[in-house]
Amino acid sequence: MLQDQQGREFHYLRLSITDVCNFKCNYCLPNGYEKPKAQAETCALQLSEIQSIVQAFAQLGTKKVRITGGEPSIRKDLPDIISLCKNTPGIESVAVTTNGYNLKQRVSDWVDAGLDRLNVSIDSFDPKMFAAITGHDRLDEILNGISYAQTLGLKSIKINTVLMRQFNYNDLQAYLDWLKNKPVTLRLIELMQTGDNFEFFKDNHVSGLPIKKHLLQTGWTRVLRSQTAGPAQEFQHSEFKGRIGLIMPYDNDFCSSCNRLRISSHGNLHLCLFGEHGIPLRQWCEPENIETLVDKIRCYVTQKEASHLLHDGFTGSTKHLSMLGG
Ligand code: SAM
Ligand code: SF4
Repeated sequence: MLQDQQGREFHYLRLSITDVCNFKCNYCLPNGYEKPKAQAETCALQLSEIQSIVQAFAQLGTKKVRITGGEPSIRKDLPDIISLCKNTPGIESVAVTTNGYNLKQRVSDWVDAGLDRLNVSIDSFDPKMFAAITGHDRLDEILNGISYAQTLGLKSIKINTVLMRQFNYNDLQAYLDWLKNKPVTLRLIELMQTGDNFEFFKDNHVSGLPIKKHLLQTGWTRVLRSQTAGPAQEFQHSEFKGRIGLIMPYDNDFCSSCNRLRISSHGNLHLCLFGEHGIPLRQWCEPENIETLVDKIRCYVTQKEASHLLHDGFTGSTKHLSMLGG
């Protein structure tokens, strides 16, 4: 079992398979993906290296893998990656986080490969606003993809929505209307400051606490979460088929319940989304080195800090979350 010095247990791995993305979300990659100058940086983990990493984490008690990016669907071998995760003994749940591009064309291959859970990012249900935020006029297409995914028997479908004061902060009623008849969870994520978005963050960060207060005052109740659940506080209401979640990284309790570790697409272990640097693991990703890899991960996890320093404006080395998958 992976445990740090604060006694936190880690059952959940967020695995980035590429830092390339085809969207231009204003809070993440406003100018689109830019290829790093150093060639070595462009080489993402190969299938065999991913296999070693997932095996090592599974041996250490990881039960859930979330595949993320950049945009993970950019990789043609995504179904193979899903399948290898799903077939690794110990892994009970495989999830993908995607921007939903070409979702309808792709999602059945992912489900056939063993996908259990799907998260799609939709920052507005207004097509014009969606295009303004992401640089893509594709809201209807993505919503169609989600409707189709609902027919495929996935264990859960969740929507991620980043809250932004100047764009979508006043849209709570639109989200609730959408959830009325859909068995889907929509998670409102507080905008996080990263190395590249300081001005945007200053203008757009809003706390999720007033929304939580409003939900509790209008009949929504908190749902208990499982050991491998993500960082959201989730709420349900008898008159709604869907649930609503809040991810509030600036909340005091956020880090104490952290159960996640991250691997970048270049094979670096990130103990925190906002840590100073990633720890390279790639040199131990050959199949014959699995035991060394297991020992290294176990040892590095004890170095995990108790909390991020986002309140002090310290964002670590994370320039934007496309580097690490959020
Ligand atoms: N491209 C995929 C997507 O957008 O779903 C996966 C990667 S993306 C980095 C993962 C999640 O992080 C998305 O839901 C995105 O909205 C969220 N995200 C990115 N930058 C963020 C920021 N600065 N603050 C809060 N959430 C952010
Ligand atoms: Fe791409 Fe996801 Fe970042 Fe948007 S949030 S730019 S879709 S990586």
